[in-house]
Amino acid sequence: MRAFTYIKPTSAAEAVRAIAAAGPGARFLAGGTTLYDLMKLNVEAPSSVIDLNSLTELSGFDTSGSSELVFGALARMSDVATDPRLVADYPALAESLWSAASPQLRNMASIGGNLLQRTRCAYFRGGDPFACNKRKPGSGCSARHGLNRGHALLGGSERCIAVYPGDWAVALSAFDAKVDVLGLNGQRTIAIDDLHREPGATPDIETALEFNELILRIRVPRTALGRASIYHKIRDREAFAFALASAAVALQMDRDTVRDVRIAVGGLATRPWRARAAEQTLVGRPLTAQTARAAGDAALRGAKASDENRFRIELGARTVADALMIAKQRALGR
Ligand SMILES: Cc1cc2nc3c(=O)[nH]c(=O)nc-3n(C[C@H](O)[C@H](O)[C@H](O)COP(=O)(O)OP(=O)(O)OC[C@H]3O[C@@H](n4cnc5c(N)ncnc54)[C@H](O)[C@@H]3O)c2cc1C
Ligand code: SF4
Repeated sequence: MRAFTYIKPTSAAEAVRAIAAAGPGARFLAGGTTLYDLMKLNVEAPSSVIDLNSLTELSGFDTSGSSELVFGALARMSDVATDPRLVADYPALAESLWSAASPQLRNMASIGGNLLQRTRCAYFRGGDPFACNKRKPGSGCSARHGLNRGHALLGGSERCIAVYPGDWAVALSAFDAKVDVLGLNGQRTIAIDDLHREPGATPDIETALEFNELILRIRVPRTALGRASIYHKIRDREAFAFALASAAVALQMDRDTVRDVRIAVGGLATRPWRARAAEQTLVGRPLTAQTARAAGDAALRGAKASDENRFRIELGARTVADALMIAKQRALGR
């Protein structure tokens, strides 16, 4: 057993003061499905655990607003995934949640904790004796010439090629979501695309958050693109598996022509990956199997394969193309 201090604040402000006082070795606890997992593997060893589960102010969500949808950070994945308004008006958001993990995990896990889940790289989770720059800066990267079938093709560096494994953040990226966070100096807002960092020379620094900043809520601007959206996830088995490739697509059509489109890819990059260049190939053009495939190729442009994952460049391009064609059917009401 490793001893740690357990603290259960009753307000967001108290939680932030508690973690600031405890220092950088402390961790917030929401559903615990990432944190406890990594504590059992000895990858995380917090000095203090700040349990957020009494912060009822963060557990609700509202999908009825005229300008934005608002999700408290402690809302459970299962509750958000089955919200009838979200399922009807923003299927990509609902699908990204219900295609993740298992029913038991979704009942426990929070949507704020989901954003901050950590990579599934086996060398990161395996602990010593494996070299891992993310777990132990400067020790090396065992994955570069090791088991890297599931590793990133986009956004990697010499130091780290670990995939960002989550689904929800990828769908949020397609909708330009914002994340409100609270720190000792007050509240600030981070665009979802600025929350996660590429590894560069410091793979141990994964997000733009300070250690003592608490995610309060996620906000999604209301948009006409919601209804014809999809989260398309390809994996080794149909349930309870992380993405080999995924695409969040949202579409608005004028007959057969694309008026507006959003594309983000998951399972392929070191962070949720908005594919703006791919979007540009489609705006104002007809959406056909050929233009969809060209957009898929554009989304994967610049991909760098490792020994075992080259097949996922083709898989990623096809995933984007298939998602676009399904979104088109939804846009045309078929
Ligand atoms: C077997 C398995 C399969 C899975 N499959 C998938 C999958 O297919 N797709 C997918 O997307 N996910 C998957 N997951 C990951 C799962 O969705 C996440 O573990 C979960 O969403 C994390 O939420 P949590 O509330 O349990 O977070 P916790 O474990 O409580 O916290 C996770 C991290 O976030 C921090 N944190 C939590 N809340 C806040 C907050 N409000 N502000 C600041 N920091 C905070 C914690 O300190 C911790 O570092 C899987 C997990 C497991 C164990
Ligand atoms: S890919 Fe990243 S997480 Fe995996 S071993 Fe290399 S440095 Fe560690």
